[in-house]
Amino acid sequence: MIIQKQKAFEDILKSLEGEQKVFLAGCADCAAACKTGGEEELVEMKARLEAAGKSITGTAVFDTACQLGAVRQKAREYEQAIKEADSILVMACGTGAQTIGETLEKKAHIGVDSLFVGQVNRLGKYTERCSTCGQCVLEAFEGICPVTRCAKGLLNGPCGGSKGGKCEIDPEKDCGWVLIYKKMEALGKLDKMRAYQPAKDQGSRHTPRQFTWPKKTPEGIKK
Ligand code: SF4
Ligand code: SF4
Repeated sequence: MIIQKQKAFEDILKSLEGEQKVFLAGCADCAAACKTGGEEELVEMKARLEAAGKSITGTAVFDTACQLGAVRQKAREYEQAIKEADSILVMACGTGAQTIGETLEKKAHIGVDSLFVGQVNRLGKYTERCSTCGQCVLEAFEGICPVTRCAKGLLNGPCGGSKGGKCEIDPEKDCGWVLIYKKMEALGKLDKMRAYQPAKDQGSRHTPRQFTWPKKTPEGIKK
């Protein structure tokens, strides 16, 4: 899930300066789960913007705001309200905001800060587990990601600064390498700690990244 938080209302208002009519867009997926842009949050944002003197031409929670086809299809239901608006305020992640902006060909403002791809611990508490490096090495570390869970992203052992199982960069957080060690120890696989992990090809993280399904041929999948 894309973990996100709402921007400060004052910053949102500032971004709408000079624009009177606003269409509000949310997302029923990550934004609703993070309580930044689901039905409830759009109702609340509408009330706050109206109290600040704005006119809201309409509100829509898109099923998946980052999906071009779904946005295009749903937008048809709101054609008039979108047309009337000076701009759209998107209460969803940065990808959702750009998808909506590109699809609706209208100035789109972002009302949310996208934080990371995260695990939901409970409503309101989220933790980063994967930094989408493009070359997953979880297999070598018994399912604990050193790229993300070690503050320095070390692939070949700890930095030596851990104290009491916590990280020297942030003592509130577990040292990723202590977690890896303990997991390997519990599984009787400590010998894996000695395995050399080659450096990652950072080229695979160059942005903007894109991925297209490989073509299928009668002989199989062509890479
Ligand atoms: S190695 Fe870590 S950051 Fe890379 S894809 Fe796997 S879980 Fe994500
Ligand atoms: S203390 Fe542990 S998690 Fe923190 S940087 Fe060092 S090895 Fe990584």
